[in-house]
Amino acid sequence: MLLENTKSTKYIFITGGVTSSLGKGIIAASLAKLLQERGLSVTIQKFDPYINIDPGTLNPIEHGECFVTEDGAETDLDLGHYERFLNIYTSQANNITTGRIYYNVIQKERNGYYKGKTVQVVPHITDEIKEHFFKLGNQNKYDIIITEIGGTVGDIESLPFIEAVRQAKHELGGKNCVCIHLTLVPYLIATGELKTKPTQHSVKALLELGIQPDILVCRTEEHHLNEEIRKKIALFGNVPNDCVIEAINVETIYDVPLLMQREKLDKRVLEKLYIDTNTEIRMEAWESFVNTLKNYKCEIKIALIGKYVQLKDSYKSISESLIHGGVAHNCRVNIVWIHSEEIDTKNIHNQLQSCNGILVAPGFGERGWEGKLLAVQYAREHKIPFLGICLGFQSAVVEFARNILLLPDASSTEMNEDTKNPVINLMEEQKKVKQLGGTMRLGAYNCTIKRGTKTYHIYKNADIISERHRHRYEFNNAYSDMFEKAGFIITGKNEEMGLVEIMELQGHPWFIGCQFHPELKSTVLNPHPLFVDFVRACLEL
Ligand code: GLN
Repeated sequence: MLLENTKSTKYIFITGGVTSSLGKGIIAASLAKLLQERGLSVTIQKFDPYINIDPGTLNPIEHGECFVTEDGAETDLDLGHYERFLNIYTSQANNITTGRIYYNVIQKERNGYYKGKTVQVVPHITDEIKEHFFKLGNQNKYDIIITEIGGTVGDIESLPFIEAVRQAKHELGGKNCVCIHLTLVPYLIATGELKTKPTQHSVKALLELGIQPDILVCRTEEHHLNEEIRKKIALFGNVPNDCVIEAINVETIYDVPLLMQREKLDKRVLEKLYIDTNTEIRMEAWESFVNTLKNYKCEIKIALIGKYVQLKDSYKSISESLIHGGVAHNCRVNIVWIHSEEIDTKNIHNQLQSCNGILVAPGFGERGWEGKLLAVQYAREHKIPFLGICLGFQSAVVEFARNILLLPDASSTEMNEDTKNPVINLMEEQKKVKQLGGTMRLGAYNCTIKRGTKTYHIYKNADIISERHRHRYEFNNAYSDMFEKAGFIITGKNEEMGLVEIMELQGHPWFIGCQFHPELKSTVLNPHPLFVDFVRACLEL
């Protein structure tokens, strides 16, 4: 497959210019998809310029959802896009921040690794960055590694990363490395034209840092780049005409791989990497997904109740999983975003009566907790399909304890440390934990499913499944019998730790709560069974 196999793994670096939020992650994932469907083995990694060791401690309203990988890394939400597009797992190695780079370097310094040398940004920080650029490549599992550099070129924070890219490009040589720069071509209504100057400046900024981009991907909101504009960008950006790629706004992010295919981004990249471009590309499954997504036969409304709803990215994996679940039934899922603090006994009926399903989202802390309990109660009493995820599951447990088991003070010790009925409480090993970052129950754990239950049926009669976690609190087993006798049954448990993973309510059309996060494993080609069945139940309501 590789025409000139000088190095086994080839590298693509993607930087961004002009503004943030141009969708670098989606462009990276789309390019990766195209290369993957040509039979290459590809992965993507993201390097973020902020000082946090990982995004685990970031408020979702600042930075969107924290995506958790199989190996329990708390990572940037772009890794979610990578997994959903590529249908592969990522890991800790796929997301590195400035904080982690410095942390590693400082640890090495404390351990005498630098043998008395003055530790500096160049070469020590940049060497550490490069080591991580090549870490996945050195496993010899991949033909191509795509590295997305977070932030915008010219930011102080991203300078060491850009310098590391420059060095990497120099060391790898032109045939093994491609630099793609994503920019914006704005349209000025007053003069009625697209403007190339921001792109020119952005390329200049990159050149000043020693990098000549090989390909320019130009975001434009509504107006196509005509030949003249493309030529102008090519001339001033110093790239061949056919290396100016248009990325115009599209209806859904799932259109982007097809758009990039039409613009031949994958071909240009392969040419530059000296990889055969005549290979067949199999995008049929993807095309059929996008087709169904756009030509849906029915629509439903699902209420998503959480306290970070101001920023939709806070629940990215959930909203994408609902899309995947919908497509499986030719159905468009419209999410009704509801802030749990804004729910009270007076307005709940108005807010939820028209919804076909209710999903109570994950979350942390007491704010908005009572609203979540009201939403659970509404779903239970009105027999509306309900899915509770993590804190949403814990809300379902507490609501049931209060209103059915008649333990009015029942709570999670996260919300009330002194409750007499801690139906959700802290795991023993969590009691010792003082530090915040990376200390929750994180990543993949097995769950044994109880045969004959709805859960068992949903998971296609699998006895053991594996799902990802991100929480500290757990169902308190001291209450198991009481719950089961009253009809809220435990349908899945982690046997090694004796922890409850999933429960379902009998005598209700569809009421399921899970301690794990199914949304982290739903992909375009593998929609998650819980979401697929939840949508089915909502459709039947
Ligand atoms: N706050 C809860 C816990 O720590 C739930 C976490 C979550 O929803 N991800 O257990």
